[in-house]
Amino acid sequence: MSTLQAFFKGQYIPQSEAKIGILTHAFNYGTGVFEGIRAYWNDEEQQLYVFKLKEHYERLRNSCHILSIELRYSVPELCDITTELLRRSEVRSDIYIRPIAYKSGEVIGVRLHDIEDDFTVTCVRIGKYIGAEVARCKISSWRRMDDASAPVRAKITGIYVNSALAKTEVVMDGYDEAILLNADGHVSEGSGENLFIVRNGVLSTPAVSDNVLEGITRDFVMQLAREELGIKVDERTIDRSELFVADECFMTGTAAEITPIGEVDRRRIGAGQVGPITARLRTAFAGAVRGNDPRYAAACSPVWPK
Ligand code: PMP
Repeated sequence: MSTLQAFFKGQYIPQSEAKIGILTHAFNYGTGVFEGIRAYWNDEEQQLYVFKLKEHYERLRNSCHILSIELRYSVPELCDITTELLRRSEVRSDIYIRPIAYKSGEVIGVRLHDIEDDFTVTCVRIGKYIGAEVARCKISSWRRMDDASAPVRAKITGIYVNSALAKTEVVMDGYDEAILLNADGHVSEGSGENLFIVRNGVLSTPAVSDNVLEGITRDFVMQLAREELGIKVDERTIDRSELFVADECFMTGTAAEITPIGEVDRRRIGAGQVGPITARLRTAFAGAVRGNDPRYAAACSPVWPK
């Protein structure tokens, strides 16, 4: 297996050699913004497709803008850097890509201004993010960070303390994944996933003003539901107790893909199995991300020359 590379301080080097100093601002204060991107290997075409590459870097740019991080590369340049990284790493299998733009200055002082910024990206081999086929979830006692306290639509490293607290709390209690309520007590999202319910044939997900991360999988799943399944989709406030009476419930995320939820707070959701709409969405999703559906070809960036 080839050595995975990192793009670090403007150069491609082996990942194991990419190190930051202990005074790095982002390490001390959580002042970084990141992305998680998946690339899928298509064996028939002998091609690696990066899913929604441009969209991830557009969100990274927005995160940088929110956190006053100067990103010296344009979105097309970031896409090219990532493609080159995967080629140099000789990736011919599914892979997860982790870009971070961060306050790289080695200085003490809590602030965002007058600190050097840098960008790095590397890749790792990961499998399924949530091990269970149908997840058992619990509402965490930790509330989702409020946008009035820190900007939740930016994917900020420091904000992930909130997710980590929630995840560990419920995993230690024997569940697979946490669901966080927002400050006003409505459903927000999972520790690293957006959340959907199906009720009476309508697909619903919390609105972007409910302190969710504006998920790229969330957007794509809404598109698939409308275009492939022809069902109504709405973005609205969802109550905790509405989860219990939903016909189906699932989570979406780059890492989690589409993960069905069979149980919330020890209450079975629907039949406690993969629901019919969830199953159809998963099939459509699995075909599209691997480059097997020509209608969604624009979402899949090929890495290897055709
Ligand atoms: N919410 C949170 C808190 C996340 O970390 C993620 C993963 N990036 C998501 C939602 C899902 O976003 P996406 O579909 O863009 O991966």
